[in-house]
Amino acid sequence: MMKQLKTEVVAVGTELLLGQISNTNAQWLSQQLALFGVNVYHHTVVGDNLQRVETVFNQAHARSDVIIVTGGLGPTDDDLTREAFQSMTGMEIVEHEPSMNKIVAFFEKRGTKMTPNNRKQARVFADATVLENHTGMAPGMIVTYEGRTWIFLPGVPREMKSLASEAVFPHLQRLTGDKQVIKSMILKFVGIGESQLEHELYDLIQNQTNPTIAPLAQDSGVVIRLTAKHSSEAEADQLLDHTKRQVEERLGSYLYGMNEQTLENQIIDLLKSKGRTVAGAESLTGGMFTDKLVSVPGASQVCKGSIVCYDTSVKQDVLGVSNEVLLNEGAVSEACAMQMAEKVSTLLGSTYGISLTGVAGPGSIENKEPGTVFVSIYDQLSNRHETQAYHLQGDRNTVRSRSALKGLEFFYKYLKSSIE
Ligand code: ATP
Repeated sequence: MMKQLKTEVVAVGTELLLGQISNTNAQWLSQQLALFGVNVYHHTVVGDNLQRVETVFNQAHARSDVIIVTGGLGPTDDDLTREAFQSMTGMEIVEHEPSMNKIVAFFEKRGTKMTPNNRKQARVFADATVLENHTGMAPGMIVTYEGRTWIFLPGVPREMKSLASEAVFPHLQRLTGDKQVIKSMILKFVGIGESQLEHELYDLIQNQTNPTIAPLAQDSGVVIRLTAKHSSEAEADQLLDHTKRQVEERLGSYLYGMNEQTLENQIIDLLKSKGRTVAGAESLTGGMFTDKLVSVPGASQVCKGSIVCYDTSVKQDVLGVSNEVLLNEGAVSEACAMQMAEKVSTLLGSTYGISLTGVAGPGSIENKEPGTVFVSIYDQLSNRHETQAYHLQGDRNTVRSRSALKGLEFFYKYLKSSIE
C-alpha cells in the first residue's frame, strides 16, 4: 500500500507574476509526480518579496506533507528562498564546500572574476540533504522540518528537471513506499502533424494507462513520450517495447528516431552508410541548416560545406544562378532554388546539393509574403531535382529556424526514399 502525500509546488519569481514567463516548472513537476502516484493539491506562485514568500511558506507548511519550491536560489538580492525559509524555521545556513569549490572552479575556468554574491549560491541549510547540481551552480536541498518534507530546487527548468529526476522522485518514492521502476522512451516523427498523429493514435492514447502515451510539443517536430511503470525494470522495458511496436504498426513510416536521436544525426548516418556527401546553398537561413549538420560528430566525412548566398549578387556571381531566372522568376522562386542546389553541388563536388531561399520577413520580397520558402534538393547521381514550397508562420527568426528544420525533414525523407 502506497502512502498518500499531500504535495504542493511553490514557484518563486516575480517574472512569473508579471506573465513574462509561464510556470512550466509546476506543470512539469505535476505531470511527473502523477506518474509516481503523488497527489499535487496546490500550485502557488509568489514574487521575490521576503515577507510574501514567508507567508506562502507558512501556508504550505500548514496544509501539505511535501512542499517543492522552485526558484530564488540564485546569487542576486531578489533570490530570497533561503532567507524566507530561515526566517520561518530559524534553521542555520552554512556554506556547502563542494558547491563552493565548483563555483570557484567555474569562474577560474572562464577567466572571469567571481563577484562575492556568487558565494550565496553555495549556501545550504545545515540539516539539509544537499542535491548536487550537475547542470548549474546552486545545489538543491531536501529538508525535513516538523514532519514536513521541504524540497528546494533551482528555477532554471533544465537544472530543476535534472535534480528532480535524479534525486527528488527517488526520494519521494522512498517516502511513499512505491517500489516501482519508471522508464520512458521518446519516439520522434517527421512528415506528420501533431493533430494527425493524435488522431492515428487516439484509441491507444485514450486506453493506455501503462505505458502512458503523451504527445509533446517540441520545436524540432512531433514527439511522443511513452512512460511505463513496473516493479521489474525488464518488465517496464517490455511494456515500452510492446507499445512502441503498436505505434510503429500505425506510424512506422513517419518514425525517424528515438530518445537522443535527431534528424541531423540520422541524415549524417544515412550519408555515411552510403559514402555520399552534401553541400548547402543557404539564403534566408544564413548557414543554419549546415550548422545543424555539422553539430553532429563525424559530419566532416559527409558534409562538404555551405555557401551563404544571402544577397542576389552572391547567388549570381558565386553560385552562378542565371540572370534569366533571377529576372523572370526572382530570387525567391522554385527555379532559383533548383539552380542554387545544382550549382552548389557542382561547385563543392557533393552527391547532393540542398538550397533554401525565402522571405524571412517582416516585409515582403518580390511580392512574396513573409514565410514563403523554397527548399530544393539536387541529386547528382540521378540528375534529379526535388523542390518543396512552404508557407511558414512566425517572426523573422522563427521563419528562419523553421526553414532549416523543414530542410532537414525534406532531405531526410528524400534520403530515406532514394537510398533504402
Ligand atoms: P539560478 O540559481 O540559476 O539563478 P534560481 O534558483 O535563482 O536560479 P530564478 O532566478 O528564480 O531561479 O529563475 C531562473 C530562471 O529560471 C528564470 O529567469 C526563468 O527563466 C526560469 N524559471 C524560474 N522559475 C520558473 C518556473 N516556475 N517555470 C519556468 N521557468 C522558470
